[in-house]
Amino acid sequence: MKNFKKAIVLGAGGFIGHHLVQRLKEEGLWVLGADIKLPEFSPTAADEFLIGDLRDIDFVGRVIFEDVDEVYQLAGDVGGAGYIFTGLNDANVMHNSAQINLNVAKIAVDRKVKSLFFSSSACIYPANNQTDPLSPNCEESSAYPANPDSEYGWEKLMAERLFLAYKRNFGLNVKIARFHNIFGPESTWNGGKEKAPAAICRKVAEANGNQKIQIWGSGQQTRSFLFIDDCIDATLKLMRSDFVGPYNIGSEEMISMSDFTKLVLKISQKENEIETIDGPIGVQGRSSHNKLIIQDLNWSPKFSLEEGLKQLYPWILSQVYKTK
Ligand code: NAD
Repeated sequence: MKNFKKAIVLGAGGFIGHHLVQRLKEEGLWVLGADIKLPEFSPTAADEFLIGDLRDIDFVGRVIFEDVDEVYQLAGDVGGAGYIFTGLNDANVMHNSAQINLNVAKIAVDRKVKSLFFSSSACIYPANNQTDPLSPNCEESSAYPANPDSEYGWEKLMAERLFLAYKRNFGLNVKIARFHNIFGPESTWNGGKEKAPAAICRKVAEANGNQKIQIWGSGQQTRSFLFIDDCIDATLKLMRSDFVGPYNIGSEEMISMSDFTKLVLKISQKENEIETIDGPIGVQGRSSHNKLIIQDLNWSPKFSLEEGLKQLYPWILSQVYKTK
């Protein structure tokens, strides 16, 4: 262990954390994962994996060891629109994620962590800049005056400020990214915490005959989606740069949810009709704005939405078959 660069991934049982652990291992790092649960769909590649509750500062103190090279803070109480935008989980989302971030910031300084990455979110951007589905503004500099449309977004904004305050006051070497709708295999695909790409792939995979594919809202609301491999590339590039952020890590390939569903239908070779129904949708338009990350880090996504969905859809289909 001594000669290897060492990394800790908090949230290593989750979608992005699990993929990140795999990549860090491929790069030859020694990796410790921590989460309240093991990854759901395949074994972790981590050298060690500690199961525990990161809301408990003693547990965080056991996970983050002295002088570790890289700590990735991805743990949080998160979910898709059905979890974040109904209002039913607001107190838990804020309390659980804030508690984790408070603990991590403090212990990271105590243990003299060399670099800490924090995953913020596109959900921090002001709702009033995202009312037009065709021209949302998610430029990094537009975050203030703040007006996120969810408590999840407010907590992320508070956490960005928390980590930046620890940087100013205690020299914490933090890097912050605002992820925009990351998707790919081994993401939550059912149960209520799934995000739109997995939920729509599941609905299409499960649909038979003339069954309609139900999507929430008018279908005209727009989003952009970033494939997981691109997300990991950008995360590592930011972590190993001299830049701090916050940077958007997302795609600029904006699409309406109705066209998104048509694309999944095309990949599935099905011809079911789409039906729009009432449901929590969040803002009308949202897309990444990549000028700053291109300029500072020379990073852009490699995968198109269609290329990414060609990897996600068969995986969701295999999960649907397994549960039959
Ligand atoms: P995820 O839910 O798959 O992973 C989060 C992990 O945190 C889970 O494995 C969960 O068990 C763990 N966790 C939650 N509470 C915990 C606790 N008290 N103690 C220990 N572990 C705990 O989510 P993800 O999609 O992998 O997202 C990772 C990070 O990136 C999150 O912070 C999320 O807010 C952020 N993010 C993700 C997206 C996206 O599209 N996936 C977009 C923006 C931001």
